[in-house]
Amino acid sequence: MTSAVGTDGLAFAALAMAAATAYLVRYAVDAARRLRFWVAVFLLAMMGEMWVAAIVYLLTPTVHGLVAGLAVSGSLMVVTAVPLLFALLRPAPAERPGAASSDLATPLRSGHAGVLAAVVLANEFLMGWGLCLASGTALAAVSSGTAASLAVAVVNSPWFLFTMAAEMLLTALLLYDRLPRSVSAILLAQAAIMAFSPPALGGAVWPGLAIYVSSAVMIGLFVFVFEDLYRHRVTTAAFATYLLELLGVYALMMLGLFVWIYFASGGLFALSIVAEMAVVYFALARPRAFSGPAERRWLDRPHWTFALLSFVFVAEVAMGAVLSVQLDPSDYVGGFPFLALAGSPATIALNTMSNGFWFVATAVASTWFLIMMGLEMGSLVVFKLRETRDLENRIRLVLMMGCYAAFATFYPSIYFGMLAPNQPPPTSVPVLGWSMGIGSAPLAVGVFGTLLLTYVITGALVVLFGRRVVCSVFCTAPLMYQGTTIDAMKSFNRSEPIGRKYLSSRLSGVYLATTGVVMTALVGTSVLSYLDTVGVTSVYIQGTDPSVFLFIASFSILWYALLVGIPYVGNYNCVTMGWCYTGTIAQAFQKIGFFKLKVRDRQVCKDCTTLDCAKGCPVGLTDMPGHFRQKGEFRSTKCCGVGDCVEACPYDNLYVSDVRHWVRRRLGLPETRARRTGTPMPGGSRAFGRASAAGRVGTVPLASEAIRLPMAGDARSPRSA
Ligand code: SF4
Ligand code: SF4
Repeated sequence: MTSAVGTDGLAFAALAMAAATAYLVRYAVDAARRLRFWVAVFLLAMMGEMWVAAIVYLLTPTVHGLVAGLAVSGSLMVVTAVPLLFALLRPAPAERPGAASSDLATPLRSGHAGVLAAVVLANEFLMGWGLCLASGTALAAVSSGTAASLAVAVVNSPWFLFTMAAEMLLTALLLYDRLPRSVSAILLAQAAIMAFSPPALGGAVWPGLAIYVSSAVMIGLFVFVFEDLYRHRVTTAAFATYLLELLGVYALMMLGLFVWIYFASGGLFALSIVAEMAVVYFALARPRAFSGPAERRWLDRPHWTFALLSFVFVAEVAMGAVLSVQLDPSDYVGGFPFLALAGSPATIALNTMSNGFWFVATAVASTWFLIMMGLEMGSLVVFKLRETRDLENRIRLVLMMGCYAAFATFYPSIYFGMLAPNQPPPTSVPVLGWSMGIGSAPLAVGVFGTLLLTYVITGALVVLFGRRVVCSVFCTAPLMYQGTTIDAMKSFNRSEPIGRKYLSSRLSGVYLATTGVVMTALVGTSVLSYLDTVGVTSVYIQGTDPSVFLFIASFSILWYALLVGIPYVGNYNCVTMGWCYTGTIAQAFQKIGFFKLKVRDRQVCKDCTTLDCAKGCPVGLTDMPGHFRQKGEFRSTKCCGVGDCVEACPYDNLYVSDVRHWVRRRLGLPETRARRTGTPMPGGSRAFGRASAAGRVGTVPLASEAIRLPMAGDARSPRSA
């Protein structure tokens, strides 16, 4: 069944429909009267109903089919004329005494917006179906398949996807002056992502091209959204809702794309497209809601922030999996260890958990996921770099990005692959040194020397320069923690009940218990791994070496779960909660090292009322001002030398001291430069000395957060680590 009308003609019809729909949506949005709104809805519905006639005829191309199509279409028009009739029969506002000139809420109420979105969606679906039939696209599915396969074939067809992309773009342009810039920018990115939907076309080139372009645009969109949130801490309710719904849809879309490329099933992707259209048109129907008063401070809303991070993370994991399958099919096609979801309910539940675990573990260990995360989180670090004043901090941030590029992507994925193309990837080789703990198989004996060397070298560096060598430079974690937006989430360390439990340098009971369990697990799995290697035992966890399994569970699952959980447990939680064995080993070396924070002038700290150093700390070492006041310095094995406190101190009074400063002291040289001239003094020179006289030490409230910070000597902070 092919149409007499060529593809060009159909494409023109689709474009005309998109333009007419976009115009009618704007007409409805601008309506001040119910009558005008219902006229727009009626016209939109009529467009869809015309397609009903065409579909019936194309399915039964006879005179009877034509008559039946016209009859069905006409009946539907009568039904949709009813609301219009009611609107016509209502007296116009001016005719009613005391009535306002408008009888329609601005922005539109949810009910009206929902009707508009539903009509547009139905309209588009009917058009897509009609065009599929007319052009012969996916003919079997749209002509004789089940309702579900028909819906999937229509939604995933180029007629639906490209037309929707054009329509979204046109609507966004027509409503440009009614929407905030950030919403317009997001809509343009959405239109591009939809235009590059991989399932739209087959062939050798399109799916790959579309995956790369849509992934790149989506990463750009995530960076934009994060940075926009960083710059605008308070948003409108409409924007907060829209963002969350959209990111939820994108999580679904990327999962759908994985199911499409891995299992050749487009249902989930089609569902995400429909959900996206519903979200977009519901929001576009109420553009003025985005311009209302900004009232939501997202840093005060842990659930919202958690949902945002979760959706972005799911989308990223799925995107990493899609890119891996597309770019590296020899490793990843059939490479995700999925178990069948069959058998008893308990078996299904266990297999589901196992599938989820290994899907995430495999995807996040892939080169493409790590590159993608590096680009995304690295962009936020570049933004942070722009506002970092301290030279040492700037150098550290650059080193940190370089280390991520080298240790997360180049060496494990590229260099190792070139060097030993037939060897298993590094995560299946336990003994790689510090980051892998003290595992042993299968290269056990031969690499113990290497292992020891990594401990000696890294340990020596930590002793000399502090654990920042590991936890703020070498490790891949800080790149994710320290970009602008994620860094801003350190406020949750102080505002959330769980985060608050880990404040200060105190090593609490739960912290020590966590560290104990983790280190016992490390030693235990390492011993088991060694015994497996020499044939004494044969203990494997889900077929995996125990020490490798611990590594995967720690850094591929737990670490990301707690990254997403920052709104509840606070930033840098691997350090604050003590669950990372790599960090714990670094902590032990720091205890005997040179690293500490020092102040240039104790009196300045005594007079300081801002305590900005404590507020700036992403690890939540809130007791540092008390130590500065009492001793002029602060040592904590929890401190990982990020230097945000140095940045935050408004009086240029703080610096990081390590072996370099110790050597200068030994040589009789000044340890560091003096405070910069022109740096303001707390409260001005006349206020000097008043702070301690007022007895505020230990109970100074934070100006903006009304939190009591534990100070040195305070009963609540008995053990500074
Ligand atoms: S504690 Fe562990 S995961 Fe966290 S920054 Fe340090 S080494 Fe990395
Ligand atoms: S913000 Fe600066 S002056 Fe104030 S307590 Fe901290 S280090 Fe001292």
